[in-house]
Amino acid sequence: MLQENLEDVELKIQSACDRAGRKRSEVTLIAVSKTKPVEMLEEIYDCGQRDFGENKVQEMVDKYEVLPSDIRWHLIGHLQRNKVKYVVDKACLIHSVDSMRLAKAISDEAVKKQCQVSVLIEVNVAAEESKFGVSPEEVIPFIEAIADYPNLRIEGLMTIAPYVECPEDNRAVFRGLRQLGVDINEKNINNVNVHILSMGMTNDYEIAIEEGATMVRVGTGIFGVRNYGTSH
Ligand SMILES: *Cc1c(COP(=O)(O)O)cnc(C)c1O
Repeated sequence: MLQENLEDVELKIQSACDRAGRKRSEVTLIAVSKTKPVEMLEEIYDCGQRDFGENKVQEMVDKYEVLPSDIRWHLIGHLQRNKVKYVVDKACLIHSVDSMRLAKAISDEAVKKQCQVSVLIEVNVAAEESKFGVSPEEVIPFIEAIADYPNLRIEGLMTIAPYVECPEDNRAVFRGLRQLGVDINEKNINNVNVHILSMGMTNDYEIAIEEGATMVRVGTGIFGVRNYGTSH
């Protein structure tokens, strides 16, 4: 059953790539497995899925311990500084850096553990009060301020678009994030090259791909609705 869901998502990703004249290999599908039991993750692991997204540190670490080591774990939820030490050497990418203090904490821990940590800057493109993320106007000065932090690799941007009935309504949000990436790259900030755009969820990932997403985060579309917890 999960295999069918995955195949369905895969077909939609492929058509969105076709519509946009993009290659399928430009887009990474992250299976967002938060609140879902390990057995469900194993089911799609067996179909070949390797990128998984979790929004809570403890849950990511618990699953990391018991699942195969070739899984790439993406931390997509808000990260508290006191939990940084549990994830820097386990997550392949932290999608949610939104403050200098957090960036500093990640850098310090990476130096301590002698590893490089790849991160995305979370941007609140739609300027929703309820959301984490740096505002679009602040992104460039923010990145300039943290670009030299040791062992921290800024690889791109992430956004959580608003929940909308009609996914088309989020096109401007995705376009905005992409343009921001172009603007940042034009600044030629040392050590910074925006080449990852993490945007699009179950409701709107096809639009996000049309607008340049290189990572889409799909939970419900693969695992079904979540019974408990909130979507973020
Ligand atoms: C839960 C979550 C998703 C997946 O949401 P779905 O609508 O179930 O696809 C994507 N990104 C983030 C940051 C999330 O917390």
